[in-house]
Amino acid sequence: MKSSAQVVVIGGGVVGASVLFHLTELGWTDVVLVERKELTAGSTWHAAGGMHTLNGDPNVAKLQQYTVELYREIERRSGQNCSIHMPGGLMLAGDRERMDWLRMAQARGRYLGMDMEIISAAEAKRMFPLLEEHYFIGALFDPTEGHVDPTGVTRAYAGCARQAGAEIYQRTWVSGLRQRPDGTWDVITESGEIHAEHIVNAGGLWAREVGRMIGLELPVLAMEHMYLITEDMDEVAEYNAATGHELPMGLDFDGELYIRQEGGGMLLGTYEQACVPWSPRETPWTFDQQLLTPDLDRIAPSLEIAFKHYPALADAGIKNVINGPFTFAPDGNPLVGPVPGVRNCWMACAVMAGFSQGGGVGLTLARWMIHGDPGEDIWAMDVARFGNWASLAYTNAKVRENYRRRFRITFPNEELPDGRALHTTPVYDRLTAHNAVWGASFGLEHPLWFQRPGEEPREDVTFRRSNAHPVVADECTTVRERVGLTECSNFAKYRVTGAGSAGWLQGLLTNGLPRVGRINLTAVLDPSGHIVGEFSVARVGTDDFFLFGSQIAEAHHSRWFLGHLADGVRFDVLGLSLVGLSLAGPGARDVLQSVTGASLATENYPFMTFRRIDVGMIPAYVGRMTYTGDLGYEIWVAPEYQRALFDLLWQAGKPYGIGLFGFRALMSLRMEKMFGTWAREYRPIYTPVEARMHRSLKLDHDFIGRDAVEAELASGPARTLSYFEITPDPAEPADVVGDEPIWHGGAVVGWVTSGAYAHYSRRSLAFGYVPSELAVPGAMFEVEIIGQRRPARLLPEPVLDPAGQRMRV
Ligand SMILES: Cc1cc2nc3c(=O)[nH]c(=O)nc-3n(C[C@H](O)[C@H](O)[C@H](O)COP(=O)(O)OP(=O)(O)OC[C@H]3O[C@@H](n4cnc5c(N)ncnc54)[C@H](O)[C@@H]3O)c2cc1C
Repeated sequence: MKSSAQVVVIGGGVVGASVLFHLTELGWTDVVLVERKELTAGSTWHAAGGMHTLNGDPNVAKLQQYTVELYREIERRSGQNCSIHMPGGLMLAGDRERMDWLRMAQARGRYLGMDMEIISAAEAKRMFPLLEEHYFIGALFDPTEGHVDPTGVTRAYAGCARQAGAEIYQRTWVSGLRQRPDGTWDVITESGEIHAEHIVNAGGLWAREVGRMIGLELPVLAMEHMYLITEDMDEVAEYNAATGHELPMGLDFDGELYIRQEGGGMLLGTYEQACVPWSPRETPWTFDQQLLTPDLDRIAPSLEIAFKHYPALADAGIKNVINGPFTFAPDGNPLVGPVPGVRNCWMACAVMAGFSQGGGVGLTLARWMIHGDPGEDIWAMDVARFGNWASLAYTNAKVRENYRRRFRITFPNEELPDGRALHTTPVYDRLTAHNAVWGASFGLEHPLWFQRPGEEPREDVTFRRSNAHPVVADECTTVRERVGLTECSNFAKYRVTGAGSAGWLQGLLTNGLPRVGRINLTAVLDPSGHIVGEFSVARVGTDDFFLFGSQIAEAHHSRWFLGHLADGVRFDVLGLSLVGLSLAGPGARDVLQSVTGASLATENYPFMTFRRIDVGMIPAYVGRMTYTGDLGYEIWVAPEYQRALFDLLWQAGKPYGIGLFGFRALMSLRMEKMFGTWAREYRPIYTPVEARMHRSLKLDHDFIGRDAVEAELASGPARTLSYFEITPDPAEPADVVGDEPIWHGGAVVGWVTSGAYAHYSRRSLAFGYVPSELAVPGAMFEVEIIGQRRPARLLPEPVLDPAGQRMRV
């Protein structure tokens, strides 16, 4: 065994093997993989090996596509048979909602070049004669679906990696990890120590335990999962003989099951409602290529549906039942990337669909380690999308919810209930008393909208407009015509202090620094000129700043800042030690002025001022800024003052017709003003030039990514963030939710990033990226919304107050 290596990958399942392979592919060959038993000894060996490209996040779908397409290559290069079967797959819809969902999935696939086809139930029956047609109303056929041999694939990755110089040590347990002061690692194994520059946790079923070796509590939990294999069936043999090929795979949402041919019989797996976590607190190291006791009673409801939907199964003998554990993160997506706050420590775990995702995880992690950037938009898989609030018990609740809902639709306006309300601000009870309908983001409860008094605070889930629509319209009117109050604690807040802060920040921020007492908007870029984040920067002293950014990216962004920290500079994540309320609307100044001695007149407190003032008796930082586009103030206080602040503003606002508004209204109001948002318009795959963040780009100073920006400004961006007015279907109006394809001249040319119905202007609006040469004001496009291509006109400017006068009054 080597005593040193550039990278030690811990775990020889399909994911660890893929990481090892991709590291060598990208040029790092002094790499080793350490496996406690044999390759595949965790979840991998007993997997059903199914693979598909479909995923709720198109960026993950793209990586799944990459994974599926990789198998022939590693099979060829390694000489290891992967038993690749590509019969295609049917996703079967039993009702209209599911059909809508499939149409949306098909549409999302279009701009990724995925060639999926909506077919009738009769066609599905023809392709898959085992099904009983009358239970279905249609299906989506994806030719890029199939299955592989899990062991073959793992060995093929390993074989290719070995050919390139990687070494693999089996029967070698990593029992401890010790970090040296220089950030490198001593990996302690049964057979000695390896000194490594980087470690990768690909521990699969033991990823949580490997995390604990360095004091991390990863949000990972294993669930039991069952599938059964039937004896050979005459119906299968007849189909094979008649068509000369294998039956396609089937995904039956109503039955919460998947089905495919296995040899001469069928394989049937379920995501049962009575799901059971496995080893919820600790995975035993003694567990070794074992299976769990099957429990057919638990999956009986799914089997009953299966026997109705596929009657031939009812008469087929069961040859084998597999029950094995595999791991999930709370949202079902993998945990990939550098661990915030721990140098040279990388995650590649919680991969619940190793055969769909393993290749993409390996590729992006290897790029991230070698090039400092994953090279794809892997926000949905970033280990930093969870914070400390994702405790063991929270993870348990959410993973069970996610498992039960694996084949359920999650509507765009749906908020999942488990593991809530966990994380709340002091005004939670006040807002609940005002009939708030709550959402959760980065674990924190935030008000979506306020139901009318006497009515149940609940939103109907739908792809179209919900019962919130008219109420949110009223909230928007309150803001635009009088004054609205909302909570704004769901921003990430950071404080940067210490001598040298200004110089350090200036080297990261694309905009110039604001003067003391002022605030401005800025972007942070990576060296290739892609957007790391966008922030409001408030300066309260020469070397004293507040930064406000997206809350869901709090761990993601703080990892970036801390990774670039300079000596003497302090970067603090403020979390809920600073909470906020926001006043917006033409009456906002009158309300706030009535409770503060500080003059808020524009000449004394102009737009984009940020100062420490007293509001009533409450010490506060008040920024005159707005995301609604109206006159507005964000008032930041320590949490112990938030209730008093709420009561004070609420009382003071009464003469001015104050009303509460929530996140849904905010999204509608910001669309009217053409304000983009993080994780939608601004993501790491876009550049600030594409995203038209020109006002935040000042080339009078040096900052990370500046050269790339200059080059792109000179050549012009390939694509441009554009703003559209959509004409919805008048019979059944629906607005965009994001990721819909944009058509032009009969071809898909771009995609929607987000949108909303702009209540005050009565227009359905959307943002999306299209090729720059097409981004011409007035140009006509089509946006595909739930299977319908709706006209979309490219608008040159915000539909409301394009000169921005309302916020400056
Ligand atoms: C019944 C069942 C059916 C499934 N069907 C499918 C399917 O059809 N399609 C699909 O894509 N996925 C399927 N899966 C999921 C799939 O098995 C997983 O996504 C995949 O195996 C995860 O691989 P991994 O490498 O992350 O983890 P694992 O396979 O668990 O590998 C982790 C490895 O790390 C090793 N290790 C851990 N700690 C240490 C240590 N300290 N020192 C040394 N070695 C260590 C372990 O021994 C193990 O070999 C199924 C799972 C089950 C249970």
